[in-house]
Amino acid sequence: MAARKINFNPGPAALPLPVLEKLAANTVETDGAGMSVYEMSHRSKEFEKILADAQSRMRQLFGIPEDYHIMFVGGGASLQFCMVPMNFLQGGSADYVRTGEWAKKAAEEAKRYGAVRFAGDTKADNFNHLPDKLDLDPNAKYVHITTNNTIFGTEYRDFPATGNVPLFADMSSDLMSHRWDVKKFSLIYAGAQKNLGIAGVTIVVLKKDLLERVAKDIPTMLSYKTHADNNSLFNTPPCGPIYVTKLVLDWMADLGGLEVIEQRNRTKAELLYGTLDKHADFYKGTVVNKEHRSWMNVCFRLPSEQLEEKFIKEGSAQGLHGMKGHRSVGGVRVSMYNAISPEEIQKLVDYMEKFRKAN
Ligand code: PMP
Repeated sequence: MAARKINFNPGPAALPLPVLEKLAANTVETDGAGMSVYEMSHRSKEFEKILADAQSRMRQLFGIPEDYHIMFVGGGASLQFCMVPMNFLQGGSADYVRTGEWAKKAAEEAKRYGAVRFAGDTKADNFNHLPDKLDLDPNAKYVHITTNNTIFGTEYRDFPATGNVPLFADMSSDLMSHRWDVKKFSLIYAGAQKNLGIAGVTIVVLKKDLLERVAKDIPTMLSYKTHADNNSLFNTPPCGPIYVTKLVLDWMADLGGLEVIEQRNRTKAELLYGTLDKHADFYKGTVVNKEHRSWMNVCFRLPSEQLEEKFIKEGSAQGLHGMKGHRSVGGVRVSMYNAISPEEIQKLVDYMEKFRKAN
């Protein structure tokens, strides 16, 4: 097989090689079932075990208390943008924190179901930091944040205190990349295709007591109650993607759990941001507040667009793939989710040193 590229794509993104190898070994026959996971009934005991293993692994690794449901649904994180307000806004008012394109999209969907306030908004600064403080409505139905802003490269290290108002989070691009106190959140959702598997399944973690608040007059498939009451088996769930998520969770456990993952991600961030800071004359990070720098998506500019293009092109020729910034912002973006190793970031940093000297 040709050498695999070092894949800095923002999502779908790199998977750990041991996961791909396990997947390959289990493609024709999964876990001794006499058939593959793609062919078995979602009501079979074999698939029920895969589902239960994925849930228990995630519960244990992320520290999810028993009073939270863990659900696997389709439709991507984008479907959650409408499911959240459909279930919980019901003509009331919700506080959204606008910290980027995805946060904006989530808020726009919510406007269809009630009032939306921006409790924080950094659009005027082109989202180059997180809000310093929030203007919260104590009567809001919920507060919605995006913990990692995939396009602009900012990430919360500490969550905002919201008092008695439930805190909801889109963690699509940093779920299980570092430890969080899950108890501070009432609802968490994330598409799997960055840190936890492949496209097709979205993970939803929901505090059980919130089910009482779910709107009653909404379509069956869009109600969290349907997915919670039926343990994600109301209809055929995305069986294959759930299996991949289980394999990724197994890999995380084999590595030593979330503490080890967090340490790896810290090491990677120190390596890459250290290089940006050392050569700030050449590599200019776009996030102005260092505490808000994302460990997952690192965005920076070079002295000219021509140099940026050259940097991305020459890097790609050397196997450093997927560094082009989002089409709406340009520049360079390195996405380094859990599967990217510190050794791979070291290779990138070596390339950056050489490129700077040569140019
Ligand atoms: N939220 C965030 C933070 C994202 O990065 C993305 C995708 N890049 C989405 C939501 C949308 O996810 P999906 O494509 O799974 O709908």
